[in-house]
Amino acid sequence: MAKRNIIKMGDPLLRKISKPVENFDDKLHQLLDDMAETLHAVGGLGLAAPQVGILRRVCIVEYDDVLYELVNPQLTSSSGKCVDNEGCLSVVGFRGLVERPEKIDVRYYDRNGNLREQHAEGYFARVFLHEMDHLDGILFPDKMIKKIIDND
Ligand code: ZN
Repeated sequence: MAKRNIIKMGDPLLRKISKPVENFDDKLHQLLDDMAETLHAVGGLGLAAPQVGILRRVCIVEYDDVLYELVNPQLTSSSGKCVDNEGCLSVVGFRGLVERPEKIDVRYYDRNGNLREQHAEGYFARVFLHEMDHLDGILFPDKMIKKIIDND
């Protein structure tokens, strides 16, 4: 495994639409392993492949000590609305208040190509949605309704 470099807002790669994964091979497994190592090294709730410069529809979410590896994720339903604050490993210096659905269902593939479904609510849903936005070149500042400057 190897830690990868996280690119920052302003890098054009973060604005690209990522391509679906077609091969559930060693290269994908290496990417997922490296992304988990990178996330653990820097701390955070999630990381998307474009943040390490790989334009594939892959992201990871770690929530309540469970690591979710999402390949080609798709939102299949969403309901409600909630506003909460979020930050991003690719955005330095500020967080923001963002409105997102309260409840979602996501369909995705695991690293071996098995179809899975996950229901998520509240902040757990928010992390999924934030990471999935990265796959379409969307960053939270695009959606934020209030900017919160970090003081540290
Ligand atoms: Zn992010």
